[in-house]
Amino acid sequence: MSTPSSAARRRRLRSYDALVFSLSGGKDGLAALDRGVTLADDAGVLDRIVVLHCDLGSADWEGAADLARAQANFYGVRFAVRRREQGTLLDMVRHRGMWMSARARYCTSAMKRDVARKFYTELARSVSPAPGRPARLLTALGIRAEESRARAQRPVLALDHAVSTSRKQITVWHPVLRYSTDQVWQTIQRSGAPSHPAYAHVSRLSCRLCPLASRRDLLVSARLNPEQAAEYAQVEAEIGHRFRNDWSMERIIQEAQALPPEALTRQHPLAACGSVGRLWPEAGCAA
Ligand code: SF4
Repeated sequence: MSTPSSAARRRRLRSYDALVFSLSGGKDGLAALDRGVTLADDAGVLDRIVVLHCDLGSADWEGAADLARAQANFYGVRFAVRRREQGTLLDMVRHRGMWMSARARYCTSAMKRDVARKFYTELARSVSPAPGRPARLLTALGIRAEESRARAQRPVLALDHAVSTSRKQITVWHPVLRYSTDQVWQTIQRSGAPSHPAYAHVSRLSCRLCPLASRRDLLVSARLNPEQAAEYAQVEAEIGHRFRNDWSMERIIQEAQALPPEALTRQHPLAACGSVGRLWPEAGCAA
C-alpha cells in the first residue's frame, strides 16, 4: 500500500524534468545511483535519469570512464561523459605552480563542478519544461557524512541558489549521505552492479594520486602506477612545490618501492559481503 511519504516522494521525483547522477566509477556514486534508480522506477521516471561522468583523463584510475558507462548500462539509463576543455589536471598544477590541498581544492571545482554545471545548462536546454517555468533538474551526488565534518553538515536535499537561474532550477540531492561504508558495499553487492578492481588495493577510487588520499592509498597507488608517479615527481621538481606539505612525491615513490608485495592488496570490500562477483571488466560488464 502506498504510504503518504512514498506518495509525496513520487510526486516530488515526477516534478523534475531530468535526474542527473554524477558517477566517477567509485562506490558511493554507484550506491547513490542504485537508490535513485529504485525510487525513480517506483515513480515511473526512470527514463529521466542521466548518468554524468566527468572524465579526468590519466588522473583517473584506468578504465574509470568505461566502468561508469558500464554501470549506467547495467541500470539501463542514459550516459554522458564530459571533460574540462582547458587542459588536464597536471596542466592546472603547472599553471598554478602549486598542488591542490584541503584548503585549495581547485581541481574538484575545475575538473568536476564547473564541467557538471555546464552540462546542466546543456541539459536544461534540451528538456521541455511546461511553459512559463524553468527546467527543473535534480542532481545527485554520492557524498557521505562519514567522509568529513563539512560533508556531515550538508542537507540531503537543497535548492542550489548559486547555479539556478530563470531558465533552470537545480536541486542537489545526496541519496547516500547517511550511509556507512558497509551499507554502501552491501548495496552494491545486492545490486550486482560492476565495481572497480582497484578496491582490492585502495580504499577510495579518487584520482590515482591525490594529496588528500590516505598515506596507505598513496603509497600503494604510487607503486601500482609508477609512470604516473614519476610524472608527478617531475612536475613537483618543475614547480618547486611539494606534492603534500609533509610528503614529497619523490619520497612517496621511494617508500612505495620498499613496500612488500603483501602490502599492495587488501580484502576487496565485496568479499566481506560474501562475494567479489561483478568486478569489472572481468565480469564481462564492459560497455
Ligand atoms: S581526487 Fe584529489 S586530486 Fe582528484 S579531483 Fe579530487 S581532490 Fe583533486
